[in-house]
Amino acid sequence: MAALLRAAVRSDIRLGKGEPVAMVGAGPAGLAAAHDLALLGLRPVVFETEPVAAGMLAVGVPAYRLPRELIRREVAVIEALGVEIRCNTTVGKEISFAQLRREFAAVILAVGAKSSRALGLPGERGPGVYGGVDLLRAAALGEPLNIGRDVVVIGGGNVAYDVARTVLRQVAYDTARTAARLPGTWRVRLVSLESLEEMPADTIEILEGDEEGIERRNGWGPLEIQRSADGRVQGVVFRRCLRVYDEQRRFAPVYEDSVRETIPCDTVLLAIGQAPSLPFLDAGGEDIEMARPGWPKVDPATLATTAPGVFVAGDLAHGTRLLIDAVASGKAAARSVFEYITGQRIRSEIVETHRVLERYQRERGYEALRRVPAPALPPEKRLESPDAVVELGYTREQAVLEASRCLDCGVSPVFDGARCVLCGGCADVCPTQCLKLVALDSLSGREDLAAAIESLLGGEPDLSENSAILKDEQRCIRCALCAMRCPADAITMERVIFESNWRRA
Ligand SMILES: Cc1cc2nc3c(=O)[nH]c(=O)nc-3n(C[C@H](O)[C@H](O)[C@H](O)COP(=O)(O)OP(=O)(O)OC[C@H]3O[C@@H](n4cnc5c(N)ncnc54)[C@H](O)[C@@H]3O)c2cc1C
Ligand code: SF4
Ligand code: SF4
Repeated sequence: MAALLRAAVRSDIRLGKGEPVAMVGAGPAGLAAAHDLALLGLRPVVFETEPVAAGMLAVGVPAYRLPRELIRREVAVIEALGVEIRCNTTVGKEISFAQLRREFAAVILAVGAKSSRALGLPGERGPGVYGGVDLLRAAALGEPLNIGRDVVVIGGGNVAYDVARTVLRQVAYDTARTAARLPGTWRVRLVSLESLEEMPADTIEILEGDEEGIERRNGWGPLEIQRSADGRVQGVVFRRCLRVYDEQRRFAPVYEDSVRETIPCDTVLLAIGQAPSLPFLDAGGEDIEMARPGWPKVDPATLATTAPGVFVAGDLAHGTRLLIDAVASGKAAARSVFEYITGQRIRSEIVETHRVLERYQRERGYEALRRVPAPALPPEKRLESPDAVVELGYTREQAVLEASRCLDCGVSPVFDGARCVLCGGCADVCPTQCLKLVALDSLSGREDLAAAIESLLGGEPDLSENSAILKDEQRCIRCALCAMRCPADAITMERVIFESNWRRA
């Protein structure tokens, strides 16, 4: 498949000769890098410690948000390009980093940030306190979960909600299967430092979490985890948080120390951020300098580390962000590796083309359509199975309606000055009043326009004899009424298409 795709590419790049490149980590960054390297003629091999590929998408994002079948299909496409993925292979155990560097022409570290951050609280170490991402991983892989029935999740972001909502599903499912246990005998509380307005979690997560029965407590900072004499978790002591960020939006929590509350619980899950884990660098990565503990020093332009032939990608390169950032970073790392191995410099070339759209028309009333809410499973159905997908997706009719709201900004009215008879009809008909006919001399003094006027009219035109049509791009709703109205056929609706191509620099 890679060969077929490569044959279709029009580029002057000399492809690689199958030089082997190792990716450590089969998350979105490692897979995106491997995908591009395969197309560039190299031989990517991805090493993954987990039994499944796709990183946090497979062992972090819960199945009720991301169906596993979708992931499997995406990974299969990448494998079909000739990418080899070796699951159950931990770099640092099954194969050393030093061996990778010996056997591969380059290595991309794409290990993500998988370790749950700790709070450093008294009582934190010991049974009953777990990292949120560790719980998500266990749930995703069907491993036994040692959680109680009175759970406190500490954190206020999307990961905290993934954790709390996963616990809710696991406990509800477990209860339904165990006749001896009564429903309703569990509690999942999510305690966040931030007020409701400040919470970093998406609004939809907060709303759906509330609907499902997560008890949200805002404005509390943890102080201590209390344990019984035999070491079991008994509760968490919190103190009131008055403010989380300072005027410059820096994290600088202010507490009211005298206002405290102990929330009883038997399990605590920490969801306050993740950090990378790179123990395997001890054998073979001594020349990789660190920017700060745990995070390699990276050249932002090339994603190269200080060690020759070793690059980074994804969360490890830029800190925890979104999947799409990891993919972009994997692609950037692939390009740098290609340049490093083949010695060719490549650049992206943008080709812009215009396609005239004859008789272009929009749907009636498209500009006034309201957003179609995404249908979701009713709350009482959501806990029936841990994998029941909550966001159901649009029906065909809903999808068409929602898509009709798009203004399609890639389409624009294009004016032909040679044909225009200055009748003003387009400005009259424009529903957003974004067109204006003006005498050119009224624009004098505008340096940005002077160059355009000169290139159109030459040397020293008589500005009072000429006019211009000004268009406010921000207000144009691409309705095409101006083009329909024009008596001189001076306006065409055109689709602007940008295509990017890799070329030798
Ligand atoms: C709970 C959760 C929910 C999220 N939800 C979303 C979301 O809804 N939308 C979104 O855009 N982003 C989301 N993200 C963020 C997104 O998942 C990450 O930004 C993305 O997965 C980072 O990709 P990556 O390839 O850098 O790292 P990862 O996805 O973490 O992949 C790294 C891979 O490296 C492997 N690895 C680590 N060490 C070794 C080793 N020594 N040997 C071999 N393999 C190793 C790991 O097992 C892992 O598979 C979420 C993150 C989390 C934690
Ligand atoms: S396309 Fe519609 S909104 Fe845009 S300039 Fe023409 S009439 Fe105005
Ligand atoms: S409607 Fe056509 S001819 Fe009239 S001012 Fe607009 S572009 Fe010119």
